Amino acid sequence: MSLLKGKFAIVTGAASARGLGKATAKLFADHGATVAILDLDADAAKAAAADLGAEHVGLACNVTDKAACDAAVADLNKRWGRIDILVNNAGITQPLKIMEIGPGNYDAVLDVNLRGTLYMSQAVIPGMREQKSGSIVNLSSVSAQRGGGIFGGPHYSAAKAGVLGLTKAMARELAPSNIRVNAICPGFIATDITAGKLTPDMLGTIIESIPMGRAGEASDVAGCALFLASDLSSYCTGTEVDVNGGSLI
Ligand code: NAD
Repeated sequence: MSLLKGKFAIVTGAASARGLGKATAKLFADHGATVAILDLDADAAKAAAADLGAEHVGLACNVTDKAACDAAVADLNKRWGRIDILVNNAGITQPLKIMEIGPGNYDAVLDVNLRGTLYMSQAVIPGMREQKSGSIVNLSSVSAQRGGGIFGGPHYSAAKAGVLGLTKAMARELAPSNIRVNAICPGFIATDITAGKLTPDMLGTIIESIPMGRAGEASDVAGCALFLASDLSSYCTGTEVDVNGGSLI
């Protein structure tokens, strides 16, 4: 099936080998999209795009830098003439407790997860408005919904809760332009963001707490992103979709 045939998509933070962004970019490409992978390191972004095929693009872009976001989108608009899909996936965590969070920690986590989502969205919205269509998918987290997690820290929960608020506000404002904005709230997914940070005991405790009895895979989240990016979800906007194996039941 080619759910994204003829579509042009950006996925931020998609160079990480085991990450949710790379799995999403791959699934989009498998479904016929032309994909741009944006990440901090140009070589890593280019290599990840090359893995998908010659027509895909890898660009360096720090999503906390508004000028860099605008420049990357301008570059892609020049190549493609349009952007149909944006997945705001770039994110960082810091496993800190409330009194350990310094101003620099707070800025870093809020900047990548929340400010980056705003800046990248602002970069694509004018074109989407003109073409009267678009789908923006934002990565939030179960940490936003239940106020914590092992990896994030309270500032990560705050940033990801901010992503939910931004998602709903953007969805409301952009709906008349036929631009849909939705969020995904992954639970515990095995990626580099979680790798090496857990003892076997901690891992066992987490898995026991998940009704489906397993960690999520990057492909579980990619499937949800495909649904939200494609016309299968044509009447969904402002939603948050849980991909957590039942963790909130
Ligand atoms: P990851 O660490 O594997 O990948 C994150 C990517 O973001 C990396 O490639 C990194 O280089 C990139 N990045 C970091 N700062 C950036 C910046 N300023 N500009 C551009 N790129 C930047 O993480 P992941 O597990 O694949 O997570 C992807 C998203 O899903 C994140 O937003 C994360 O918060 C969210 N999430 C993950 C989990 C999980 O369990 N893995 C759970 C809930 C939410």
